[in-house]
Amino acid sequence: MNLQIDSEKLASELHELAAFSETPSPSVTRIVFSEQDIAARAWFRQKCIAAGLTVREDAVGNTFACWQGTDASSGAVGTGSHIDAIPNAGRFDGTVGVLGGLEAIRALKNSGFAPKRSMELILFTSEEPTRFGIGCLGSRLLSGVLKSERAKTFKDREGNSLEDLRRQAGFVGDLASVELQPGHYAAFVELHIEQGPLLEARNQDIGIVTSIAAPAGMRISLTGSGGHAGAVLMRERKDAFVGAAEIAVAVEAAALCTGSPDSVATTGICDVFPGAVNSVPSKVKLEIDVRDSDLSRRDGMVTAIHEECQAIARRRQLEVTIEMVNSDAPAACDPSVVARITNACRHLGLTHMQMVSRAYHDSLFMSHLAPASMIFIPCHLGLSHRPDEFASLRDITNGVAVLAHTLAALAA
Ligand SMILES: [Zn+2]
Repeated sequence: MNLQIDSEKLASELHELAAFSETPSPSVTRIVFSEQDIAARAWFRQKCIAAGLTVREDAVGNTFACWQGTDASSGAVGTGSHIDAIPNAGRFDGTVGVLGGLEAIRALKNSGFAPKRSMELILFTSEEPTRFGIGCLGSRLLSGVLKSERAKTFKDREGNSLEDLRRQAGFVGDLASVELQPGHYAAFVELHIEQGPLLEARNQDIGIVTSIAAPAGMRISLTGSGGHAGAVLMRERKDAFVGAAEIAVAVEAAALCTGSPDSVATTGICDVFPGAVNSVPSKVKLEIDVRDSDLSRRDGMVTAIHEECQAIARRRQLEVTIEMVNSDAPAACDPSVVARITNACRHLGLTHMQMVSRAYHDSLFMSHLAPASMIFIPCHLGLSHRPDEFASLRDITNGVAVLAHTLAALAA
């Protein structure tokens, strides 16, 4: 099969999409269900319709653009990623998999290829945890790992509920209807930037993902007692923030002492109340992210952090509550999908290596529904989630070509 990937068109679409942002270029900020997110989704729908695809949306805003196969009764082949972006992010995370997936399908259509299985391009809602504190909201609901009863309780930091926000964004219907039946997809493949430095450092065109590391999210609330920063003497204080600072150090120690480079733990959010320079902090909320490619090692870190929180709170006479936001198992990618990606690389003469995805992606949850894997392309210096995130057009085009050949093999 001789496929023509239209790199120029893809580059200009990535450029256009990056302009839907709450922060000025080159920074991209696109929070789920924000004005910019809703406008970007409308723009994307038009691109899909222009490509001759049939678009449907579910109750949480996952968007499916379908190319009907000749055998509509057999499971579809899925591809896709996300377009939401954390504050002050770059333009390639997620978007390469969404617009690259669209270009792969356009190239297959233009070549005269007729798929037996339908192909579905998916834009997943809220892969980033920015708004609701939980990542992969859309794919979690699709896979049934997250049940609608729990999702209905989700609120953002301003107290707006997911239920209200999604309806205001135009996504109605019951959240329970989002979950897909096993068999809906015969396979799923996601194209994504690596977000790490290995492919570039080893001069490889393509990474073929064999497993995806397991994230756990913890939300910790500390309550002490506040008061005037001048009047409350040091010995009488129950300063919630100083306790939180000790916890952050303990989080770092938990990851460092496993001895594995795959263990990582981060305190990324620290909300201090009342947040005044002349007031002793009475309440603090922390959010902590703990990851590893090995589940037992990851859970060991979570247990250690749990115990340290209790000990620090006891010593400082603080009240502590610890909530597990999520605790997901790592995913093993499917060998037959991995083999198809490998064949595509060989066919195209591209260098490739197998790798673990240390970041998690919608594929982690899609792997519950269907055999899945991911195609990684190099990103410069491994930088991601920042405005200088960069993937070259050559690498993006290679990734799209591998995706197109893989989709064709899976859908034939
Ligand atoms: Zn991503």
